[in-house]
Amino acid sequence: MKIASPFSSPPSPDASPPVLLRLNKAHYPVTVLGYGRRVGLWVQGCGIRCKGCVSQDTWAAEGGSAVSVAEVLDWCKTKAASGLDGVTLSGGEPFEQPQALAALLDGLARWRQEAGLTFDVLCYSGYPLKTLRARHAALLEKLDALIPEPYADALPQGGAWRGSANQSLIPLSPLGQARYAGKDAPAAREKTIQVALEGERVWMIGIPERGDMAALESLCATRGLSLNQVSWRR
Ligand code: SF4
Repeated sequence: MKIASPFSSPPSPDASPPVLLRLNKAHYPVTVLGYGRRVGLWVQGCGIRCKGCVSQDTWAAEGGSAVSVAEVLDWCKTKAASGLDGVTLSGGEPFEQPQALAALLDGLARWRQEAGLTFDVLCYSGYPLKTLRARHAALLEKLDALIPEPYADALPQGGAWRGSANQSLIPLSPLGQARYAGKDAPAAREKTIQVALEGERVWMIGIPERGDMAALESLCATRGLSLNQVSWRR
């Protein structure tokens, strides 16, 4: 399911060209992908293409919209007044846009420090931890927590906020340690789905239980409602 970007204003004039982030959607508050009330940012583009991915609308690199990182940060700041415990970066594959990801993480860190806030930054990636450590060690240092590894449809379901059992929840900072240590147990399942509406579009946020999407389609069909352009099928 595709969401209109909330970033509609043109980039402000600047001496240097803005760093652009290819974004699929953004939402606040997200309460099912990490600690507390969060901003959720889903980037556009993923070349990993896991079997069973429920976010196939984020795969095409040319989809979504290109927005400046400055605009994304400004939008995040408008949400902080309502309470902000964290920012979750998902997609799509955030590490396929390393320059934009670095600018975004630097901007979030600067804002957090200057405003005296305590939100954490949790990032999903479909790349193995070993690959991320080899290629993006500097980016990992800017995160509080990471959920790496591709979604594996053939494995059992994962624990809290994760799709499959191969995915770990790795604290990367003292704040990440305080909020996420001990959440790695496979039994710690917190699979709740948020539903949001935008005109005739409906989107679901979170990690579904296996079979939830098919069950939802069947239930809708019994009530005369057919779902078009779903994100879990191409
Ligand atoms: S689960 Fe994540 S890494 Fe895998 S194809 Fe979907 S968006 Fe890409």
